[in-house]
Amino acid sequence: MLPTFTYVRPKTVAEALEQGAAEGAALHAGGTDLLGCLRDRVFQAGKIVSLSGLSELRGIAATREGGLRIGALTTLAEIAEHATIQERYPALAQGAASAASPQLRSQGTLGGNLCQRPRCWYFRGDFHCLRKGGGRCYAVAGQNQFHCILGGMGCYIVHPSDTAPALIALGAQVRIVSRGSSRLLALESFFVPPAQTVRRENVLRPGELVSEVRLPPAPAGMRSRYRKVRARGSWDFALAGVAVAAVLAEGKVQQVRVVLSGVAPIPWRATEAEAALVGKPLDADAIGRAAAASVAGAQPLSHNGYKIHLVRGIVAETLEALV
Ligand SMILES: Cc1cc2nc3c(=O)[nH]c(=O)nc-3n(C[C@H](O)[C@H](O)[C@H](O)COP(=O)(O)OP(=O)(O)OC[C@H]3O[C@@H](n4cnc5c(N)ncnc54)[C@H](O)[C@@H]3O)c2cc1C
Ligand code: SF4
Repeated sequence: MLPTFTYVRPKTVAEALEQGAAEGAALHAGGTDLLGCLRDRVFQAGKIVSLSGLSELRGIAATREGGLRIGALTTLAEIAEHATIQERYPALAQGAASAASPQLRSQGTLGGNLCQRPRCWYFRGDFHCLRKGGGRCYAVAGQNQFHCILGGMGCYIVHPSDTAPALIALGAQVRIVSRGSSRLLALESFFVPPAQTVRRENVLRPGELVSEVRLPPAPAGMRSRYRKVRARGSWDFALAGVAVAAVLAEGKVQQVRVVLSGVAPIPWRATEAEAALVGKPLDADAIGRAAAASVAGAQPLSHNGYKIHLVRGIVAETLEALV
């Protein structure tokens, strides 16, 4: 059962920021993640601030620079079906289309997708673990088959978003607004690893919200893809996934980003894989080197060593599909 809370539905962003700054307030976009968290007592909120009345946070529009602005309240279904995104930024359309189920994609928003809480079953269950302010991580010696192999330090969640890796591969920025300020930062810098803190997953502070995501113009010759492996084909979070965006010219990789999902507490830039590709033709040799380098530094837990092989395989497969 849901706990009791007050509910407000502001008509302006300024009002939403005012209401959201109150202690114990939680922002509600599509509610597909938030309501489950409240029902399961993952965290508490005395006041729900609905963003649904903020029409300025909806929609997809071209920017003056030739990129796209996607409002935080745009649904995953709208992103997956958008013709320009499918044509110029296919990795993002594929990421949005691979998240959750059709019903959840119609309700779930981009802002909520980036800010959703981790799915670690101890965190979602009755365990007062480190991320909830407790004294230990239950996954490290427990059931950790779906946990991270990269970037864990004290906490071993994987970041659950399927849009974030694609957006980072495509060089997206995110706008964060609060009362009296607005800042754009690289989406890559939005996420916070456990080495920095285990208590939150992103840089947002109380009283701030994500208003939009901005994609830069797609360079000529850019190709991109998102590939996700999950246990159930109908809907499921990534066991492992990879977003790749590469600019190919004169038969060689001019620039490339390789971003992993399902294997680290933040969307993970596989920078050693990128270095193995830049300046090389996208042939079997370079692809093999990049796939091997994509898991550099991996430290699997007791039950998730299979992810190393999975990542190598999907990185190779995704790069081959770009050719
Ligand atoms: C069964 C199930 C399967 C799922 N599978 C996947 C999957 O495969 N891949 C995947 O990526 N996701 C998955 N999800 C997660 C998630 O529900 C969706 O990704 C969805 O996009 C979340 O958006 P929402 O608008 O419903 O978020 P909400 O539930 O409204 O919000 C989620 C969190 O983000 C915060 N928030 C929302 N909007 C903003 C904003 N603009 N600024 C700041 N904070 C904000 C809220 O306060 C809340 O803490 C799944 C969820 C369920 C229930
Ligand atoms: S992995 Fe993180 S969220 Fe899960 S039990 Fe450990 S500390 Fe908690």
